[in-house]
Amino acid sequence: MQPRRKPRLGFFKYSCCAGCEFTLIFFQRRIVETLRGFDFAYCRMVSSAGTPEGPFDLALVEGTITEAWQADELKKIRRRSRLLLAIGSCAVNGGIPAIKATHPEDDVQRRVYRDLENIHSIRPHALDAYVRVDGEIKGCPPGERDLEEALTSVLMQKKPDFLEYSVCIECKARNNICILVAHGMPCMGPVTNAGCGALCPSNQRACYSCWGPMKQANGLALARTFEALGLSPEDIVGKFTLFGADTVQYRQVREHYEA
Ligand code: SF4
Ligand code: SF4
Ligand code: SF4
Repeated sequence: MQPRRKPRLGFFKYSCCAGCEFTLIFFQRRIVETLRGFDFAYCRMVSSAGTPEGPFDLALVEGTITEAWQADELKKIRRRSRLLLAIGSCAVNGGIPAIKATHPEDDVQRRVYRDLENIHSIRPHALDAYVRVDGEIKGCPPGERDLEEALTSVLMQKKPDFLEYSVCIECKARNNICILVAHGMPCMGPVTNAGCGALCPSNQRACYSCWGPMKQANGLALARTFEALGLSPEDIVGKFTLFGADTVQYRQVREHYEA
């Protein structure tokens, strides 16, 4: 019997810090065996060999789309890939690069660059603004649970089961005393998607939403709670801008408090 062919994995990067790629390759001790199940056909962090031409069984794409050529290339990768998963907050919801969506593009460019001749940036968007995405590995950087779920699902040819509830659920499961209720700390846990195991509240720190908003998040309700705690409109806007500023859930809060 012929040995089963390993799925061909392509890892692509757009505007971001490359931390997701780095995390997957160098820091995930528990999933080393799972990673051996893949043929790294294209991954610049691992090797300069390989081409982005494909075809790929799985494309992992990190980073926000902030230039027109990236959107064009992403569409080509989509056509060459059986599955395409967005990896990390930048790719899933715009992440930190989406902060620039809060200002007119021209103003942002002028603030950063003196000579705009070679600057071709566009308003930042997550991958799903341009292509169909088969799943989202959330986090900045993603945690081992979701990485393992994504990779083993591809190997087992099943749909990945990503968590779709808030950090509060994980926090309660760890028996934490709520720092929002008990100590008045402005924790973003109620609107943030689970996956990190409530890392920050478990260490008496308010969640700052690096996993990005969960789908059904009621941002305005949490913002009103922050207001009652004495946070200024600027502070509230800042909390809903750091990650996922371009998402429906957080944009709604920003627009309300900036009005
Ligand atoms: S999600 Fe975070 S770790 Fe991943 S590329 Fe973006 S900024 Fe870096
Ligand atoms: S500490 Fe934060 S994450 Fe934990 S239950 Fe309270 S609001 Fe939710
Ligand atoms: S608690 Fe919030 S800020 Fe901390 S790791 Fe989890 S999602 Fe990120």
